[in-house]
Amino acid sequence: MELLLATNNQHKKHELSQILSGHKIITPDEIGIDFDCDETGTTFLANSLLKAETLFKLAGRPIIADDSGLCVDSLGGEPGIYSARYGSSGGPDLSSEDRNLYLLDKMKHLETTAERTAHFVCCMSLIIDEYRVYTVQESVDGSITFEPAGCGGFGYDPVFFLPRYGMTVAEIGEAEKNKISHRGRAASRLAKLIIGE
Ligand code: IMP
Repeated sequence: MELLLATNNQHKKHELSQILSGHKIITPDEIGIDFDCDETGTTFLANSLLKAETLFKLAGRPIIADDSGLCVDSLGGEPGIYSARYGSSGGPDLSSEDRNLYLLDKMKHLETTAERTAHFVCCMSLIIDEYRVYTVQESVDGSITFEPAGCGGFGYDPVFFLPRYGMTVAEIGEAEKNKISHRGRAASRLAKLIIGE
């Protein structure tokens, strides 16, 4: 099935293409659609559906959308839905490296791993047609490191430690990340819903 992904983020496209390997994932810019959706929702679920519905109205074909982010328990769930813009305080977005350093600085008073627990969350929505809509939210648990490690993945991967691997997400490799990540888990659940479409 050809699925139009409600983002121009090439990292997400790459990961989803690997995870949903039986389907073709395309992005709005590839078919000449200028897609930019204001994420006005207050939850991953609301923003995921908003992106999917906005693009479905523009394109009228099967859509997949994801809203994802990092939630740190000791920071009351921050940065959460604001993960992409964290630390920019209204100015231009920080680079991923600077955003990770900003997060580490905010957490410097939290000295034990138990105080640094965190979750990657992904809410993924699939619109097949106007009357067939699915949404699923998944997560993966870990903790925030004291310094970045690894160069795979994107975003917060170098500071997200997975206890069962003893490594950060940026160190475990792409295939392993896709098996266990919040996005991998959400997409695998959706994939089961579209078998035979
Ligand atoms: P969104 O495009 O509004 O869903 O923003 C998601 C943001 O959360 C990204 O820009 C990253 O900063 C962060 N994020 C989401 N998924 C991941 C991941 O798999 N690894 C690292 N960071 C992620």
